[in-house]
Amino acid sequence: MNSSQFREASHAAIEEIIQYYDTLASRPVLSTVSPGYLRPLLPNGPPQTGESWPAIQSDIERVIMPGLTHWQSPNFMAFFPASSTFPSMLGEMYSAAFTAPAFNWLCSPAVTELETVVLDWLAGLFALPECFLSKGEGGGVIQGSASEAVVTVMVAARERIVQRRCGHLEEGEEKEQKMGEERIKLVALGGEHSHSSVQKAANIAGVRFRSVPAPKSSGFRVTAQSLRQKIEECKSKGIEPFFMGLTLGTTNTCAVDEFEEIVAVAKDYPDVWIHVDAAYAGAALALPEYQHLAAPFAAFDSFNTNMHKWLLTNFDASVLWVKQRRSLTDALSITPSYLRNEFSDSGLVTDYRDWQIPLGRRFRALKIWFVLRTYGVDGIQAHLRNTIKLGELFHSLVVSRPDLFTVVAGPAFALTVLTVNPEKRGAAKGARVTPASSPDPNHEAYLNDFTSDAESQYLANANTVTKEVYERINSGGEFFLTSTTMEGIFTIRVVSANPMAEEKYLRRVFEVLVETAEGVLTEREKGK
Ligand code: PLP
Repeated sequence: MNSSQFREASHAAIEEIIQYYDTLASRPVLSTVSPGYLRPLLPNGPPQTGESWPAIQSDIERVIMPGLTHWQSPNFMAFFPASSTFPSMLGEMYSAAFTAPAFNWLCSPAVTELETVVLDWLAGLFALPECFLSKGEGGGVIQGSASEAVVTVMVAARERIVQRRCGHLEEGEEKEQKMGEERIKLVALGGEHSHSSVQKAANIAGVRFRSVPAPKSSGFRVTAQSLRQKIEECKSKGIEPFFMGLTLGTTNTCAVDEFEEIVAVAKDYPDVWIHVDAAYAGAALALPEYQHLAAPFAAFDSFNTNMHKWLLTNFDASVLWVKQRRSLTDALSITPSYLRNEFSDSGLVTDYRDWQIPLGRRFRALKIWFVLRTYGVDGIQAHLRNTIKLGELFHSLVVSRPDLFTVVAGPAFALTVLTVNPEKRGAAKGARVTPASSPDPNHEAYLNDFTSDAESQYLANANTVTKEVYERINSGGEFFLTSTTMEGIFTIRVVSANPMAEEKYLRRVFEVLVETAEGVLTEREKGK
């Protein structure tokens, strides 16, 4: 493809992409293809002679489109959003054009230097404590995903504690042996509702994993008490906690762990590296009304959030900050300490290959820079506030029907988590809300039976009904929602943080929830 063919092809591709975005709302959000749909649509091997762009492009609609789930559709209210915006796409385009595995400063100084500047801008936008800025001993780096960020800091934490225990020993086999013995004892901790990436990181890092309870009674949050208790329990068994993964905005309910009180735990156990994973909800730190959440981070070691979830930036861009960039370079640098120099350590020249697992890296700062400049702080804040408000609106609709629904969590960061009541309760107005984890006092089983059987029967019925409603809505094709189960309660999650979210879509999904719940409950009533 030469320049003039590229001009023609790229214009045609951009036209098609614009057309796709303009028609997103009218496309069924979920793909309906069956597994293996694609192979029969394609030849058995690549073409012998090259094809023209129009021939290739036409396969987007024929082959690819049927198998796409439309994450940018305003009817996508599942998981957390994966934002995409035009300025971010432009960043991706330039990044592709300038492709270089920019593993060190010299590979392309602009790649490194823009990343450092943009990460400092973001640290300011999120009101992160000064210690995370590159002008001190900390700094930020762009990782591909939150999972990658977590495993990276876990390895840094592992090596930090091993060095603290063995760093004074003379180099040699004895030291190596001692370091191995220390590593074997290590255990990484994560909150009960921390993302599974924390446990996966422990598997990759070759250490044990233990979960810190965050029960419903504590709002699904990790408290200082539960963390302290778990640390002591591990120590009493001879295993050594060296890492704790806290969460700002858990995947299940967007719960926020008790950062302020955990500061004291961090001080009492300085060998435990404390990381805050804010993959989704960290975006809210761009709003002054949420920035108090970041103040305790000064006592912690690292923090990450995904630009590619709620912050209008295309996948992938997970931004990670550490308080001591040396912890990363000590663990991940392939340059032995005798080759290090004061310029690298002072941050004058950063080689980001030593802050991550792979060697090569993409020019991801460009798309973040474009997004920040196109929207400005005002535009980003308006997007966040608008979607939070939509979440509150949806929540208010749900609580207006206590006969049908029970809110289990939220509204929090544009997420509401709900269950459907197993039997329609009285008139909507003034009806009592019974959480799904408690027995319904009007339920027949409960009136006649005050044993725990009544409770579990109620829960089983609520789960059956909620699951049925959930499955019918997703198979209906108009909306895509996701579910989660906590303490045996099956729940439906509705997220309104999509860049295309609007009030009419939230009102419509509520209407669909009501219609479906009423349908399921009526059928159950008739079946009795
Ligand atoms: N952490 C939290 C709280 C999440 O919700 C998710 C994904 O939704 C992740 C981590 C994993 O993100 P990634 O796909 O960037 O690894």
